[in-house]
Amino acid sequence: MGMHVTLLAAQRRKQILDEVRTHGAVRIADLARRLGVSEMTIHRDLDRLAAEGLVRKVFGGAVAVESLAVQPHCTICGTLPEKRLDFTVHTRDGTRAVACCPHCGLLLVRRLGAQVQSAVTFDFVTRQPVNARAAVYVVESTATPCCAPSLLAFARREDAVRFQAGFGGRLATFQQAVEWLEAMGLASGKGE
Ligand SMILES: [Zn+2]
Ligand SMILES: [Zn+2]
Repeated sequence: MGMHVTLLAAQRRKQILDEVRTHGAVRIADLARRLGVSEMTIHRDLDRLAAEGLVRKVFGGAVAVESLAVQPHCTICGTLPEKRLDFTVHTRDGTRAVACCPHCGLLLVRRLGAQVQSAVTFDFVTRQPVNARAAVYVVESTATPCCAPSLLAFARREDAVRFQAGFGGRLATFQQAVEWLEAMGLASGKGE
């Protein structure tokens, strides 16, 4: 019985590590819900993984160790990404590429095409990591913290709607935002 529990814990930690490596960051509350264990259990798992140098704990979750390495410049425009606005693409061959913001991030997704395994960026309001494919985007708002025209990501539709009420622009899904950028690229001759 004891053996069985130990094995389960090891499998769970492996699963957590996979999540961190795939998404770049994880939240304790999300992991607890997904894996059906208490947040305290996840805390202990992350402590153990952190002690082994495999992840780094941050408030409410953990981040991948390699994501703390020297921040490379934006693959698309060359600027130094600002923290919590950046967009990271993980490719199928296990490498990752960074963009300064969702604008360059979606251009990067388009450039990498089928090589893209997952992409993570940050919610513009909460500054929490968000799966880029599941995010809601506001395009062409008057808020331009990085590249123009502005393209910002939100985890929750309500937040995107509220942001749009103040700063204008249009709501878009991941796919719509990519298509919008493609159309823009053709119109302005910008991009690749
Ligand atoms: Zn850029
Ligand atoms: Zn940018």
